[in-house]
Amino acid sequence: MRYISTRGSAPALDFEGVLLAGLARDGGLYVPETYPDIAGRLAGWRGLSYQAIAYEMLLPFVGDSLTPATLGDLIDGAYGSFNHAAVCPLVQVGANDFLLELFHGPTLAFKDVAMQLLGRLFNTVLTRRGEQVTVLGATSGDTGSAAIEALRGLPSVKVVMLHPKGRVSEVQRRQMTTVLDDNIHNVAIEGTFDDCQALVKTLFNRLEFRDRARLSAVNSINWARIVAQTVYYVTSALSLGAPDRAVSFSVPTGNFGDIYAGYVAKRMGLPVDRLVVATNRNDILARALNAGDYSTGTVQPTISPSMDIQVSSNFERLLFDLFGRDGAVTAAAMTGFQHSGRLALGGNILDEARRSFDAVAVDEDMTRETMAATLRQTGLVVDPHSAVGLAGAARARGDAAVPMITLATAHPAKFPAAVEAATGISPGLPPRMADLYTRQERYAVLPHDADALEAHISAIIA
Ligand SMILES: *Cc1c(COP(=O)(O)O)cnc(C)c1O
Repeated sequence: MRYISTRGSAPALDFEGVLLAGLARDGGLYVPETYPDIAGRLAGWRGLSYQAIAYEMLLPFVGDSLTPATLGDLIDGAYGSFNHAAVCPLVQVGANDFLLELFHGPTLAFKDVAMQLLGRLFNTVLTRRGEQVTVLGATSGDTGSAAIEALRGLPSVKVVMLHPKGRVSEVQRRQMTTVLDDNIHNVAIEGTFDDCQALVKTLFNRLEFRDRARLSAVNSINWARIVAQTVYYVTSALSLGAPDRAVSFSVPTGNFGDIYAGYVAKRMGLPVDRLVVATNRNDILARALNAGDYSTGTVQPTISPSMDIQVSSNFERLLFDLFGRDGAVTAAAMTGFQHSGRLALGGNILDEARRSFDAVAVDEDMTRETMAATLRQTGLVVDPHSAVGLAGAARARGDAAVPMITLATAHPAKFPAAVEAATGISPGLPPRMADLYTRQERYAVLPHDADALEAHISAIIA
């Protein structure tokens, strides 16, 4: 399998190349040259384990970059870290409505599904090449802990993760700072999340330092993360009767990575009726898909903070397909968007997008009401992100005969304050994490200053 850039001018790469590159050199995102066709094979996958289906889904994307046996071992290792035999189990919440629980991994959010595999892929490829990298990132919550948990203890990777001091929840902070492996380095920056991101950018732009420290990233535009997320669309659809009947999905959406994986599964031949993009009041995607207005504003804080974004990076991958896979057209559109902060989508583009997608923006009251109603109707306590998905599913519900699967992207114990305010129930941590509040923490505190951070990292890698 070859991968091409959405902006048309970067060289095509193989799987190993896109795994390590992240962003393409022309500023675009890598996508596969063609979508493998699984339609004729789905019926034969019924009854297989999550791991076995993951293997079948990933094999054509990986190509010659790994032996099939190595791929199988990495998948088994990644999903052996999950707390549930089904890995991503389905729970019924209504007559023909289901929740797909993606939070049974080590940090209780869906990012573990991709990150547990990504960490192992990284380590395998780097070890083979005899290379070491320093993964530098900034986090406002879920991504940092998922990356740390996935990369802890790996000899080929050092991790430096920045978070804004005093501005992440205690659960989120402790999930990062109680990981005491030698290769994990947490830094609390005296500033905001935007300050942390600006520091990361500054250090990546100091090219001499970037090369010396071999800086790398594991962000959400990495293709390997997308492909790992296609798997649970397939397993859940098979459970509900695919390929003999179609299913729909409602996906709490921020960076458009998760729902884009559902679109890829559909393009590969999974019978998907509707893909519902559910956003919180940061509604750039709902405006884009409903009115053709893809334009940024200022980020508004919500009780579903992992979806508080201005720009959905992975949306460019969908645009590339909507523009007929024309890299020059996509590059011009994205360059215009970067300059003006807006992109108008024409009628034919919108019509094409609406053949697959619905989009719903859910406000804070509706999110809280959905948490309360879900508890009343099912006895289940759901987190605010999953509640946005459930509200989107209810609003966009079409044919009642088509199963609607909402992706539950976080465990409620990750957002205890918002859950308790809406439901009156204080969600407890799962047993294996019950001692989180008493575990030893380790992290450095640094001012919002690039020179101080560079010196800190230089000492770590010396
Ligand atoms: C990251 C995240 C999302 C959004 O996923 P995207 O791939 O960015 O659209 C939703 N819910 C939770 C809990 C998350 O951590």
